[in-house]
Amino acid sequence: MTAPGRDRHVAQPGTAAASQPGSDPVLELVDVHAGYERFLALFGVSFAVGERQSVALVGPNGAGKTTSARVASGLLEPTRGRVVVAGRDLTGQPAHRFAAAGIIHAPEGRSVFSSLTVEENLALPFRRIFGRSGVREAIDRAYEVFPRLGERRRQNAGSLSGGEQRMLSLARVLVDEPKLLIADEPSLGLAPIVIEEVYEVLQRIRDAGTALLIIEQHIDQALKLADHVVVLEHGHVSIAGRPEDLDLHRSLTLSGKTT
Ligand code: ATP
Repeated sequence: MTAPGRDRHVAQPGTAAASQPGSDPVLELVDVHAGYERFLALFGVSFAVGERQSVALVGPNGAGKTTSARVASGLLEPTRGRVVVAGRDLTGQPAHRFAAAGIIHAPEGRSVFSSLTVEENLALPFRRIFGRSGVREAIDRAYEVFPRLGERRRQNAGSLSGGEQRMLSLARVLVDEPKLLIADEPSLGLAPIVIEEVYEVLQRIRDAGTALLIIEQHIDQALKLADHVVVLEHGHVSIAGRPEDLDLHRSLTLSGKTT
């Protein structure tokens, strides 16, 4: 698939690639350094996600993928560098400003309330976002996008399959129609057939106009949906570019970085 803004050249590591000509990228990390207390996890990371683009952020364990995601959604303030959302510098702003600007972070895992029903899980965030009068319509929209959740509406979330729980957690964040969804390890712990389903949902979300930043340790699935790839190693961008221009498998396999 060709996204309107996909770049034409292989980017050099560390450059902000992937923006759409004539418009600001949805998200830009510029020379970001970040970490935890005295421990630094990112050392000058730069990349960009253009409108309606799908970027895969891949790399081995501990490379800094989740840390980058936390910086991108305002959960972690960089010690150096900038985070720019749709042309506005939001560095150091609280996470709710990032959310208001359209950046939504679906964290690793399922993040659902297992003792509540599917519908209750949807109603909680929707009431906060849309108010009491808008909840019903928002829930119905979620069921249109995720018909399986509609079929399971009265079931406790804890009794759903792993893939269904992942879809429920996506539905909880997506009804906002974000500009960018950051999906941290959406395939984690799921069977291959369920991973396919989750990625089909991500594809639909992207087709509806939301840009994606997909974080994966195992890159095969992410690459199918990505029109730009950023490889992180030891807190640095080591390779970045279009999947078809990069011999990612070869370079990562040769250095033993993927499975
Ligand atoms: P994984 O796929 O294992 O989650 P990752 O690429 O997402 O890896 P991060 O979770 O960003 O990597 O971690 C980057 C580095 O920061 C690692 O060395 C990790 O141990 C460290 N780190 C992550 N979270 C914390 C924390 N809360 N406190 C201290 N160090 C942390």
